[in-house]
Amino acid sequence: MSQEKTEAIVIRQAEFSESSRVVTLFSKDFGKLSVLAKGVKRLKGPFDAGIDLLSRCHVVFIRRSSGALGILTEARLAARFQPPGPDLMSLYGGYYLAELLNGLTEDDDPAPLVYELAVRSLDGLMSDVQDSLSVIVEFEIGILRLSGHLGDLTECTACGTSFLEPSGAHTDGSPAPGRLVHWVSQGGLLCPSCCRPEYRKRSMSAGSVAALRQLGRMDRQMSARVRLTKQQIRECHQFAVSAIAHVLGRRPKTLRYLDIG
Ligand SMILES: [Zn+2]
Repeated sequence: MSQEKTEAIVIRQAEFSESSRVVTLFSKDFGKLSVLAKGVKRLKGPFDAGIDLLSRCHVVFIRRSSGALGILTEARLAARFQPPGPDLMSLYGGYYLAELLNGLTEDDDPAPLVYELAVRSLDGLMSDVQDSLSVIVEFEIGILRLSGHLGDLTECTACGTSFLEPSGAHTDGSPAPGRLVHWVSQGGLLCPSCCRPEYRKRSMSAGSVAALRQLGRMDRQMSARVRLTKQQIRECHQFAVSAIAHVLGRRPKTLRYLDIG
C-alpha cells in the first residue's frame, strides 16, 4: 500500500453502499483508476464537495495491490464543470467526453497527453467563445490519435494512392477532388477508384479529410486556429463515431443527446 497524489477528472460514479461510492478518475499521472470514496454521500463528508462528475480535483489515494480497489483519502476541488447558459450541448458534450475517456483508455496506463486534451476540451466547453461542436470533434479526433486508433489518413488503404500528392490546380498539398470513403474495420480511407457501393454511406469530402488530418496532428497552439465548416464538423464527427464504435464494440450511449446531424 502506498499513498499517491495527483490531479484528476471525475469521469464516473457508481453507488457502493449507503454512504460510499466507487469513483472512476482520469488522472494526470496514473491514467484511469477507480477508488472507493467512503462517506462521500454524507452531508458533511470528507471530500469538500469535490467529487461531482467532470470536476477536476487534487486527490490523494491509497493504492492497493493489483486488482483491489484503491481508497480515496482526499479530494480538493480545482475546477467544477459549469457549462455556460441554456445551451445543453456543452453539458452533454461533457458527459460524452467522460464516456469516451472511460471507454477508450486502460486502467493504470498513464496518458498525460490525453489528460491535457481532456482539460483543454472541458475548458473549451465552458467557454462562451468556442463553439461546443468543434470542441467535441477536436476531442474525438484527438483521443483517437493519442490512443492509436486514428489510422492512416494520407493514402488509400487498398491501393496506396497518396491523398497528399498535388494534382492539377491542387499544388498546396490538399487532396485531389472526389469523395473518399472511411473503411472502418481497416482503420483507413479508400480512394474513389477503390470504393465499392457498400462503403459509400461513409463517404467524406477531400476538405473534411484535410480537416481530419489537421485535427489529428494538432497541438495546443494550432487548436485556436482551426475553423471547420458545418459540413466538415459533421463528416469528421461521423468518421470519429464510426472509429470509436468499432473500438468500443458499440455506439457511445451519451451520443443520443448530442445533435450533430
Ligand atoms: Zn485506392
